[in-house]
Amino acid sequence: MTSLRLYNTLTRQKEELRPLQPGAVRIYSCGPTVYRYVHVGNLRTFMLPDLLRRSLEYLGYHTEQVMNITDVGHLTDDTFDRGEDKMLVSARLESKSPEEIAAYYTDAFMQDAALVNIRAADHYPRATRYIPKMIDLISILIAKGHAYEVGGTVYYDIASFPSYGRLSRNTTDKLLTGSRGEVDPRKRHPGDFTLWKAAGEHRLQVWPSPWGDGFPGWHIECSAMSMSLLGDRFDIHTGGADNVFPHHEAELAQSEGATGRRVVNYWMHGGLLLLAGSRMAKSAGNFFRATELVDQGFDPLAFRYLALQAKYRTKLNFSTEGLAGADRALKQLRERVADWAARGDAGPDAHEAEAYEARFRAAIADDLDLPAAMALVAEVVRADLTATAKAQLLRRWDAVLGLDLDRAAPRRELPGGAAALLAARDKARAAKDFQASDRLRDELAAMGVAVTDTAEGQRWRVASRK
Ligand SMILES: [Zn+2]
Repeated sequence: MTSLRLYNTLTRQKEELRPLQPGAVRIYSCGPTVYRYVHVGNLRTFMLPDLLRRSLEYLGYHTEQVMNITDVGHLTDDTFDRGEDKMLVSARLESKSPEEIAAYYTDAFMQDAALVNIRAADHYPRATRYIPKMIDLISILIAKGHAYEVGGTVYYDIASFPSYGRLSRNTTDKLLTGSRGEVDPRKRHPGDFTLWKAAGEHRLQVWPSPWGDGFPGWHIECSAMSMSLLGDRFDIHTGGADNVFPHHEAELAQSEGATGRRVVNYWMHGGLLLLAGSRMAKSAGNFFRATELVDQGFDPLAFRYLALQAKYRTKLNFSTEGLAGADRALKQLRERVADWAARGDAGPDAHEAEAYEARFRAAIADDLDLPAAMALVAEVVRADLTATAKAQLLRRWDAVLGLDLDRAAPRRELPGGAAALLAARDKARAAKDFQASDRLRDELAAMGVAVTDTAEGQRWRVASRK
């Protein structure tokens, strides 16, 4: 097992990963809200744990991943007191029940994630099935003096948790509820956040609780589901940079407030995807769904290729020009892999190939440096290696990259005997026996196989027959 270094948002530095159970890494990832389609910016966020798992497994670790499905129509936090319930809005617009809405968009999310080769998580807990766990957790927080109830609503008392603000580097006096929403005057501190909300009017999803009918806050959902499935201590928590505050700051205060000790060892956050410089957001309506990329004629994995060019923590600008470039580069790479694999020249150059392999492993072990890994792919393309070695390296690395490098456009089969002639010609060229190489090219041409010589060796094409 190669050791990894990962950037931990909590400590603001790269730290060596030390799994609680040697060789096995347990990960909780904030998942989608399912009252709308996810956009490619969301997919970039979900690609982080996918790349993390693929890299860990490549380096010899076992992984277990939980991704929650938010099927409760929580309000976004800054409008929590006045905003509309998104599930209710969708239900009204689409004349469906919240359950139907959630099932439909959960399905759409799974399809979109699969389009960009995000592997399925091991567990997809639904928030609506964990309401009793959330109520238990809230009761514990009240009993321990971290929460208080006023009129059927329960707030977290941030003053009771002195390290509140450590994850997001917010100080308590800077923590305001947001200037737009009115602050509930019953709150002890304006930064206190909702754990349980008394049901107002116009709510479709309401549950009974010790504090009356209501519904849970969004943050308590992730504390309850992560600890229910992974225990009260696990390795890595992932999310988007926009989850750090308030969502993860609140989750940390809830989980640690309830257990009295550290729950998450490493917090990892993915950078946002920007469209024309601004954040892609459901509410802004400026978003692309993965299926729209397909409608526009792009391979959806071109988006993945594009995402791999940037460090996961940095912001990434999304444009159709950038996507078109990634689409071309990806197709060209697949054709090369198919060419190399078909050429079947003398075995791999073990020594050089091993050096590339070591560098690839070092890149992904360095806080998932995929841009460095992609630079290595480009280096291998130009390298002085046999075609067999190049094909082997790139196919192996595709376990992490997830670009379907083996999926080239279908090509015609070589006629019988042609592969042996191509291999003989490769050797003749290596020995600078140009007379033999020309003779073999003529023999191949007579069989309908056109051979051209390139800087990377010979390429062949089977002529179409009438
Ligand atoms: Zn979450």
